[in-house]
Order: sequence, then structure tokens, then C-alpha cells
Amino acid sequence: MGNQRAIFLDRDGTLIEEVGHLSRIEDLRIYPEALEAVRKINQSGALTLVITNQSAIARGFLNEEELGDVHASLQEDFRREGARIDGFYYCPHHPAAGAGTYTQECNCRKPQPGMLIRAARELQLEMATSYMIGDRLGDVEAGHRAGCRSLLIKTGYGEGELQVLDQGEVSASLEEVPLQRPDHIAENVLEAVDWIMEQKLERQPGSTH
Ligand SMILES: [Mg+2]
Ligand SMILES: [Zn+2]
Repeated sequence: MGNQRAIFLDRDGTLIEEVGHLSRIEDLRIYPEALEAVRKINQSGALTLVITNQSAIARGFLNEEELGDVHASLQEDFRREGARIDGFYYCPHHPAAGAGTYTQECNCRKPQPGMLIRAARELQLEMATSYMIGDRLGDVEAGHRAGCRSLLIKTGYGEGELQVLDQGEVSASLEEVPLQRPDHIAENVLEAVDWIMEQKLERQPGSTH
């Protein structure tokens, strides 16, 4: 691993509205604050990497080429607003849904950390100073499993996930609790990025990182 920092961003419910297995470009609805969030990440020198479970492929709602088109369109929409998305990593699998080669247990579907670890290897990332932001506890867990700090945001499924945390329903396994417990909870992706940038400033004087 190298010393490049990344901010890993979930896609649905984090950058764009959660519509349930999005398969058409015309259904892309970018959260307005996500544009500013990505611009701030760009200015910080960190990479902006989208990390997304896309079992829609295993389910046959779209194929990998069509998903590539969706991501190219999303990237262009951000670019037009001065915001650079540096890369997309997706998991096309599902352990049960579908009936083809995508139907399998894999190590990339969040909460597994495979996509983040692959990005770290390909882009020489320093995970200890990188962050994962998402609206599901599975995003938080994937970030922690990859050695990052993780933030939960209240958009998308976030409010519902907060209730799960409050009710202690994640405490069935003692080991899993810290993995799913966010390092910070923010209203949305922009407030999450603002919080991350403050952490960086606070760590600088005399920091060993
Ligand atoms: Mg999500
Ligand atoms: Zn996978």
C-alpha cells in the first residue's frame, strides 16, 4: 500500500437517490450536495472512488456494459459541475438471486471489503487515512474491514439504519458491533466530507500519520 488517500463513496442513497436497482440512465437523480462534496474531495487531493453493490446485474436488470454506460453518464454529470469522480468499483454478484455465473458468494459484495482492497492495490492507497461514506451499515462495515474509518449518512436507507443501531440489533455478535458502528454520523455526504476534512486538519500538528 502507498500513501494516496481516498474517500470511498457508496452510490445509491449517498451520491444519488435510492430508487431500487437502478437500470436506466434517465432514473439518475444526483443529490445536489453531492456535487459540492466531490469538489471538496478533489480539492483535498484525495481520490474520489465510488464503491457500489450492483446485484442488479446478477438479477438480470442490466448487464455490465449498460452499467458502464450509467457510470459514464454519472461521471459526466459530475464533471460538468466541476466535480471529478476518479473511479468506479462495483460488485455484480449476489449470493442467491439470479441463476448465472454472477450468482455466487464473493469477497467484493459489501459488507465484504473486496472492492476497497482491490482499489488500494491498484491505486497504492493508504487505508489508515482513507474513509468510507455510505447509507448502510454494510458500507460502514466494509470500510472498517478494509482498514478505513467509516461514516454513516442519513440519506437513502440511513435513517432506518440508525434505528437498527439504536435498538442494538447489531449486537448479536460482539465482534461485529465495532465493525458496524460508524466513526461519525452525518446528515448527508457533504456534511460527511466536511467532517473528514476537519479531522485531517486536527491531525496535522505533531501528527504521526
Ligand atoms: Mg446505498
Ligand atoms: Zn462480488
